[in-house]
Amino acid sequence: MSFEYAPAPESRAVVSIKPKYGHFIGGKFVAGNKHFPTVNPATEEVLSQIALAGKPEVDAAVKAARKAYVSTWSKMSGKERGKYLYRIARIMQERAREFAVLETLDNGKPIRESRDTDIPLAAAHFFYHAGWADKLEFAGVGTSPKPLGVAGQIIPWNFPLLMLAWKVAPALATGNTVVLKPAESTSLTALLFAEVCQQAELPAGVVNIVTGDGSTGALIVNHPGIDKIAFTGSTEVGKIIARAVAPTKKSVTLELGGKAANIVFEDAPIDETVEGIVNGIFFNQGHVCCAGSRLLLQENVAEEVLHKLKNRMEKIRVGDPMDKNTDVGAINSKEQLAKIVELAATGDVEGAERWSPACNLPAKGFWFAPTIFTGVTQAHRIAREEIFGPVLSVLTFRTPQEAIEKANNTPFGLSAGIWSEKGSRTLWASQQLRAGVIWANTFNKFDPTSPFGGYKESGWGREGGRHGLSAYLKGVSHE
Ligand code: ADP
Repeated sequence: MSFEYAPAPESRAVVSIKPKYGHFIGGKFVAGNKHFPTVNPATEEVLSQIALAGKPEVDAAVKAARKAYVSTWSKMSGKERGKYLYRIARIMQERAREFAVLETLDNGKPIRESRDTDIPLAAAHFFYHAGWADKLEFAGVGTSPKPLGVAGQIIPWNFPLLMLAWKVAPALATGNTVVLKPAESTSLTALLFAEVCQQAELPAGVVNIVTGDGSTGALIVNHPGIDKIAFTGSTEVGKIIARAVAPTKKSVTLELGGKAANIVFEDAPIDETVEGIVNGIFFNQGHVCCAGSRLLLQENVAEEVLHKLKNRMEKIRVGDPMDKNTDVGAINSKEQLAKIVELAATGDVEGAERWSPACNLPAKGFWFAPTIFTGVTQAHRIAREEIFGPVLSVLTFRTPQEAIEKANNTPFGLSAGIWSEKGSRTLWASQQLRAGVIWANTFNKFDPTSPFGGYKESGWGREGGRHGLSAYLKGVSHE
């Protein structure tokens, strides 16, 4: 039996979106030159006009960050820096509803996720790093930790505010100043964060936010006044950045793509596993670099798992992201939808079998129904390439060794999942898997205390935890 849900829309009255935004440089909002629209992907409504930073704006932001670094931030005691981080964290909590609504409008993710995951976790990153600011000598990152200087930070659109927090909180806690660029389709919460910096009376220039596209990102990457680049995004752009910084003295951390194996052994608790599979691939519309996008099922339980998974998928509610009952929202952009459609079509052509539950997708906006492909082999593009959408590729295996070989047979190595009731099997498998994060009997769990990052083409360095601190300090190994 299925239940009917009455509409439960979140109100957007809590946010006020300006018709046009500039950049946040040296503690002030400055007018932009050129602009481009940012749209609500669930309705295609233009929400605002975002400024496109060129060389003059990036130069001004780097100059402001350097000035703040030299004159204020690097001289301030860790205890004082920590106070600012605590203040920012508290204001983010106070304004959490505003942030959640704005994130959902601009990104298309369900309000339930922005409210319960993105925003609380973003605040948690500031609280966690505030705690380290005056204890860096005891963090196991050297007895006299020194900041790097000015950090250029470039983030993607899938977790806009959360990725900002992952970047800004450790940089500030360790005494660096920043120039951050949000992704072109999701700048609004970063610009609201700039207001929070003003409200927290953060010294001018410690955080600078310039908006724009890849050309702005490239100006940051190649700027001679920047000491460190922290990037989260596609492996393709990560490679461009790695090439650009290789001949320079810049430090770099890269958090790139993934194609995680979610491995279900025959002794797995099937009902919990099905929930974990759904969370692993349909959370945030599958716009997750560590998504469990390759499901590896042990052959003797495959039929049962697939049957239960399809039943569960029939109950997923796809639609208005502002409705509190929605599970899967809109695809972030027209371009991303086109990429998902194109890659999914290769699944059909290459002989995999596609299945989606019946769902009424809204007429306007960018949508893709939760989809699984069975009969997938290692050679299929949908088993090798990151789709970054709500599409699950299902493969099977007979022996645990075969599962590991298939799981590791990828250029990526960001995350993996293991479902088994046997502790010994879980430990054995986690030692064999070449992935930076491995979840056992759960998936997509994040915590600021836990380092996150990948092997191989999934990136360099770690973010979060003590490891993440070292990525912003001089002379400390990144791994
Ligand atoms: P996605 O494919 O998920 O959109 P991208 O890697 O293209 O990921 O984008 C992630 C971030 O990198 C965005 O903020 C984007 O503007 C920025 N970006 C894109 N191209 C470049 C580039 N050549 N140099 C620096 N940043 C870039």
